[in-house]
Amino acid sequence: MTEKREKIKRIGVFTSGGDAPGMNAAVRAVTRAALANKLEVIGIRRGYQGMIEGDFVKLKSTDVSHIMHQGGTFLQTARSKEFRTEEGRAKAYVQLKNAGIDAVVVIGGDGSFAGALEFSKDYDIPFVGIPGTIDNDMFGTDYTIGYDTALNTVVEAVDKIKDTASSHGRIFFVEVMGREAGQLALKAGIACGAEIIFMPEIHEEEKALEKFLANRYKQKKHSGIVMVAEGDSAGGAFKIAEKVQKQHPEIEVRVSILGHMQRGGNPTATDRVVATQMGVAAVEAILEDQKSIMVGLKNEQIVHIPLVKVVKTNRGIDHELIDMQKVINSVQ
Ligand code: ATP
Repeated sequence: MTEKREKIKRIGVFTSGGDAPGMNAAVRAVTRAALANKLEVIGIRRGYQGMIEGDFVKLKSTDVSHIMHQGGTFLQTARSKEFRTEEGRAKAYVQLKNAGIDAVVVIGGDGSFAGALEFSKDYDIPFVGIPGTIDNDMFGTDYTIGYDTALNTVVEAVDKIKDTASSHGRIFFVEVMGREAGQLALKAGIACGAEIIFMPEIHEEEKALEKFLANRYKQKKHSGIVMVAEGDSAGGAFKIAEKVQKQHPEIEVRVSILGHMQRGGNPTATDRVVATQMGVAAVEAILEDQKSIMVGLKNEQIVHIPLVKVVKTNRGIDHELIDMQKVINSVQ
């Protein structure tokens, strides 16, 4: 074992920001990989807030048994205003030091990584990130933990909505999560055969919707699904539906906001496997003396991306997929 490896004896692990299915599998993998490398593991409850308050629990191998298949996060999560302040981060540092924690694995989204970066400006405890968010909006990784489960949840729900839409000849506006990113709406829209997909990254969908209503809907198709990411600039499913209803009073319009059901549920096999790969990779990164990086997956391979790059760079949306969907929907 190298000198660098020997200086890390105890690591902390926590989940932060919005919960995502697969976070438990990631905590399990971090714990087991750390124990396999003779490190002690401390679970930090309730994200950065728990760190500030010293809400810590020692994790043994059996403490992470039978959690991999459960949604949510057994360590719980939180959004901490206090950690955004210098005083809050100072308190967190003292708690980590007092608990003898030499390095930390943070499982969360962009905001959680921004917090880790702020902390690293003043303090020497290294942080390694694992991307955990249902939005799949993070730069540098093909997958974020929770996305595959959320996607499948949305598809299952919309399949059911489609039964009603076609039976009654209605247009359903289905709103899915995604404040700043349309990944979930885009992939779910493709998988469900949505006619139009509204995403925050694209601003021309109102015209496409009008065209669909004027041509294809009225002439041939008497029902339809319009997928709307909650952060779309047109204002969300209710606003778009209201406008359509005013312009086309003859069309039966309905809105369905899928809401928090998208976050919950047992993680899919993909999310469990990805979470396990990333959990083990995060511990290896710590043992290699890495700091302020996120472990990600690119073309099925583990990669390390500097947190600065992850936080500052927009992942963007896959325009090839958008164009593909337009081709599918272009035929009358
Ligand atoms: P999700 O993608 O699910 O929203 P997230 O990790 O982006 O997850 P946030 O609520 O944005 O969720 O961030 C989680 C926590 O990270 C915040 O509650 C806050 O405690 C901390 N944090 C975020 N940004 C900063 C920052 N600039 N400085 C310090 N702490 C921060």
